[in-house]
Amino acid sequence: MNKKRITTIFIVLLLGFGLYRSHTATVSSVPHTETGYMIGTVVNITVYGDYDDDIFDKSFDIIRDIESKMSLNIDTSELNEINANAGIHPVAVSESTFDVIERSLYHSKVSDGAFDISAGSLVSLWQIGSDKASIPPAEALADAIDTIDYKNIWLNRDSLEVFLKEEGMIIDVGGIAKGYAADRVGEYLSSRGVERAIVDAGGDIYLLGKGSNGGPWKIGVKDPFTSSRNDYLGIVSATQPSIVTSGVYERFLEIEGDDTVYHHILDPKTGYPVQNDIQGVTIVSDSTMDSDGFSTSVFVLGLEEGMKLVESTDNVEAIFVMDSKEVYVSSGLRGLFELTSDEFTMAEL
Ligand code: ADP
Ligand code: MG
Repeated sequence: MNKKRITTIFIVLLLGFGLYRSHTATVSSVPHTETGYMIGTVVNITVYGDYDDDIFDKSFDIIRDIESKMSLNIDTSELNEINANAGIHPVAVSESTFDVIERSLYHSKVSDGAFDISAGSLVSLWQIGSDKASIPPAEALADAIDTIDYKNIWLNRDSLEVFLKEEGMIIDVGGIAKGYAADRVGEYLSSRGVERAIVDAGGDIYLLGKGSNGGPWKIGVKDPFTSSRNDYLGIVSATQPSIVTSGVYERFLEIEGDDTVYHHILDPKTGYPVQNDIQGVTIVSDSTMDSDGFSTSVFVLGLEEGMKLVESTDNVEAIFVMDSKEVYVSSGLRGLFELTSDEFTMAEL
């Protein structure tokens, strides 16, 4: 069995991002980047112009705090406490954990369960992205599917309590927490007087301020068919602060003699990694948490249903890159997305 983990960052930031490293940033356009490994991914924070020395450490602390509360890999996390008490009693959590769960429920509802925050038992069966990834037995998948239903989650905002009504239910915020973390760091940098920054939590990107020319940021959408981090197929003029991509080539399991790519976006109805003709979905919106949620749900829904969800939601836009190398963009991005590779073609539904 050949297991492979790829942590490519799907979005390529243009305009010199990451090329300049300096501790004495005096010119406001000079970027300084620091990198941390946390929440299961690589986090790059780039600040333009002057900054206080502690700003990067404090930013990474914010993300570590989110991880300590919400990771299923940390025994003492609030999420594990909620899960351990499924079917037993409600658990009071911090406001940040509550906010993420509440927003995950929104994404579960609007996607009619394509994104389901209670898919945790499936996620832990597959363990895609870890050394332990393997194809689970069919009976185990069927049992896991039985535990999935976001409607069995009870929330009380006044007491910040969360209750999973059915025993065996497991909630997992892996499909949304990186986006939340990027938003929180973005807010923090802004509160510290930073005017321009890029927070990149494993490809979930929050953009603070304007692009280099005072206009929109120019963000390259990676060509999913190459392994090079720098090959992009087109450029988005990002007029909204967040851009997030879900792709099948990010974390997956390969089995010898089997052409299927067992990746990390799971269909809660079948129990298996979603098999469709999408290579990657990029979402642009006002909140990185929402872009993260939609990138996962729209991927599960597929091109037609996913595009419908995007078009019916205000201020949420999408770019679909298909196996056929056709690229579909939602109506709000027409004129803001430019195809730069001649290997791809624009298409319309
Ligand atoms: P990435 O980690 O590459 O940013 P996504 O944001 O697309 O990926 O989310 C994938 C993660 O979301 C998985 O690793 C898993 O934790 C969780 N997940 C997978 N399938 C679903 C689903 N159908 N609904 C909710 N969460 C999911
Ligand atoms: Mg996501």
